[in-house]
Amino acid sequence: MFSNKESFKRLYLKKLERMCGKKFDESTIRDQFQTLGSLIREHISQDWIETNERYRADNEKQVYYLSIEFLLGRLLGSNLLNLGIRDVVEEGLNDLGIDLHQLEEMEADAGLGNGGLGRLAACFLDSLASLNLPGHGCGIRYKHGLFDQKIVDGYQVELPEQWLRHGNVWEVRRPENAVEVNFWGKVESYQEDGKWLFRHANGEKVLAVPYDVPVIGYETKTVNTLRLWSAEPSPYPHTKDVLQYKRDTESVSEFLYPDDTHDDGKILRLKQQYFLVAASIGSIVRSYRLKNGHLKDFHKRVTIHINDTHPVLAIPELMRILLDDEGFSWEEAWEITSNTISYTNHTTLSEALEKWQISIFQPLLPRIYMIVEEINERYCKELWSKYPGDWQRIEQMAIIAHGLVKMAHLAIAGSYSVNGVAKIHTDILKKREMRLFYEAHPEKFNSKTNGITHRRWLIKSNPQLTQLINDSIGEGWIHEPSKLSSLKDLANDQSFLEKLSKVKQTRKQILAKRIFEQQGLKVDTDSIFDVQVKRLHAYKRQLLNVLHIMYLYNRLKEDSSFEIHPRTFIFGAKASPGYYYAKKVIKLINSLAEKVNNDKDVREQLKIVFLENYRVSLAEDIFPAADVSEQISTASKEASGTGNMKFMMNGAVTLGTLDGANVEILEEVGQENIFIFGLKADDVLHYQQHGGYNSSEYYHHDGRIEQVMEQLINGFFPNVQDHFEPIYDSLLVQNDEYFVLKDFGAYAKIQEQVNEAYLNRTRWLTMSANNIAASGYFSSDRTIAQYAEEIWRITNSRVKSY
Ligand SMILES: *Cc1c(COP(=O)(O)O)cnc(C)c1O
Repeated sequence: MFSNKESFKRLYLKKLERMCGKKFDESTIRDQFQTLGSLIREHISQDWIETNERYRADNEKQVYYLSIEFLLGRLLGSNLLNLGIRDVVEEGLNDLGIDLHQLEEMEADAGLGNGGLGRLAACFLDSLASLNLPGHGCGIRYKHGLFDQKIVDGYQVELPEQWLRHGNVWEVRRPENAVEVNFWGKVESYQEDGKWLFRHANGEKVLAVPYDVPVIGYETKTVNTLRLWSAEPSPYPHTKDVLQYKRDTESVSEFLYPDDTHDDGKILRLKQQYFLVAASIGSIVRSYRLKNGHLKDFHKRVTIHINDTHPVLAIPELMRILLDDEGFSWEEAWEITSNTISYTNHTTLSEALEKWQISIFQPLLPRIYMIVEEINERYCKELWSKYPGDWQRIEQMAIIAHGLVKMAHLAIAGSYSVNGVAKIHTDILKKREMRLFYEAHPEKFNSKTNGITHRRWLIKSNPQLTQLINDSIGEGWIHEPSKLSSLKDLANDQSFLEKLSKVKQTRKQILAKRIFEQQGLKVDTDSIFDVQVKRLHAYKRQLLNVLHIMYLYNRLKEDSSFEIHPRTFIFGAKASPGYYYAKKVIKLINSLAEKVNNDKDVREQLKIVFLENYRVSLAEDIFPAADVSEQISTASKEASGTGNMKFMMNGAVTLGTLDGANVEILEEVGQENIFIFGLKADDVLHYQQHGGYNSSEYYHHDGRIEQVMEQLINGFFPNVQDHFEPIYDSLLVQNDEYFVLKDFGAYAKIQEQVNEAYLNRTRWLTMSANNIAASGYFSSDRTIAQYAEEIWRITNSRVKSY
């Protein structure tokens, strides 16, 4: 079908007429996109079927990756790339007068996630399929993904996202595989063959209907499955008012919660978590049973990975099935369950560690709660025998305590592996946040540094750089990204550096064009593109960046001898709608942009852009254009970060703290190719434990800080009244929890070094080349190979690449 242009065109036109019921001449761009999408889905259906048949026939161990978020973005481009048919399609469409790029713009982002955690899950799926590993995603098919962000008068306004408005060409609805999920009701006990058994009775049923999305590997016949569950009314009799019942059930998969680090204790959120788990495990068990008859060896052929604690109810749910439906003893059921589940921790921020009140948990999930209680009791007993008399320790480790169910404790107790997402993060878990658990179960803990798929984040999003790399070192790196290291030999080769510079310039022009079209702002592509794009959070310290720009502005205004290479500061960030402080920072960035961009004295040297609605498809145009990657979180707070890796792979130089994967970026690239500044994680942890930081000292002793702080509240920003007072207070009255003022001086100094380095064009290009050369380690293919070997113990399936 896609083997040559002529046959593609023939089939494409035929398909278009059949699908849209119109002649090609009358078709819209959307018709043309839909046609291409379905043609591709049909094209891979044989491989999809065969992949599933192969997995069944070989009865190899399968991985199911459970995640409450999958931040997929658009799929057309990456599917074309992975299938190796982009050129044929592009040329064929060209003949018909269709621009493939225009079709790609028709696709809505699948924004079923908030940020890093959801994007990681999407990168992992791509790597699993590309490495021919039997691994599948399980998630929720939210009707509305993460909100669309509009900036109105400098403020964030949220609009409901509508990715399903025109349907989703990639999914296949499979109502025959629906699973019933029970909420509320009560637990009944009954006797059978002299044994006491339990069942969940009078539950309110929600029907979980799966939509399967094919996950296509790169240049291979493997097509894995992402199964997304949609909540619908069950045809089962119920007592509620029918309209109310319909609304209640459908609400379960209606919205993605727009908060990624605060535990918001909403009952609907807990419903979503159990819905995901019960539907996924229900269908995993059903197909396993069909094949194997009994579940005795379940853990030998199935492993279930939970991405953070959101799906941790997988543990009691699997126990419930083994105990209540399959009749195993507690000991047998626990042996199977605790050897099936593996867990990734994503944060050490205490406000993000999930805890649920018993008073919410128990009525909603009575049988599950009962099982969690028993897990807790037995776990505490086990601890008691390990640490006799040490009440305090056991209290701190208990799964249920003080009216709360602690999800991370349940995850550690009920899984065979616990991993952090970067070396420093895992160390902090072991040394501090989870020290007691590490002492009790050292064998469970391991570290897996995150990664990103180089296929989407380099090959697809930056074809210009990809071409240059291929021309320079061949294509071996595509299957073995570590081979990017060959570029090191070219980092001092003038002709290579010239080409690299051209590529960067091209990509900056593409982004500049987009900025102009979107917000009517002209940016200078000879300026340094200094970029901070990520969720807006206090710990990520967008505020440090902003205060420093204010200082630069003041200096440029006051000191005519002060010169810098022109710089364009680019921001992109969504704030959770209920996150008061984060929204203030967005307004601050926009107020500063307005001030600076309209000031004739400085606008040749400083420009500020806030890009609206940061999301995957926009990100794909940002990373390739960046010169400087801002990774300036308070040390110890960012578990890994993955944006940092996308920048590096596209030749941006990191300006960062020793936090998360920045530490390993430094290790890979060497200190002469990165700008590191600020407090270390140990310093921060020390201050937090022992005090000793007084932010007002920095305010009083550093005139630069005093000036920018005063400008927050003295009318420097017109028409905002006292809007920024809470920011001012957070820094002074609340003693600057994230050490913004403490790190200000070091940040300003390293920014001077960045300026200096950029002025030496060759030096900068060498740094850029070295970053690309050292980025292979951060491919998620490496990460997934480590998960497969060291955690899941799965091997790649017998299919060979073609
Ligand atoms: C990679 C990515 C993130 C994560 O960025 P961090 O800088 O690691 O926080 C968030 N959102 C989108 C759209 C991304 O592509």
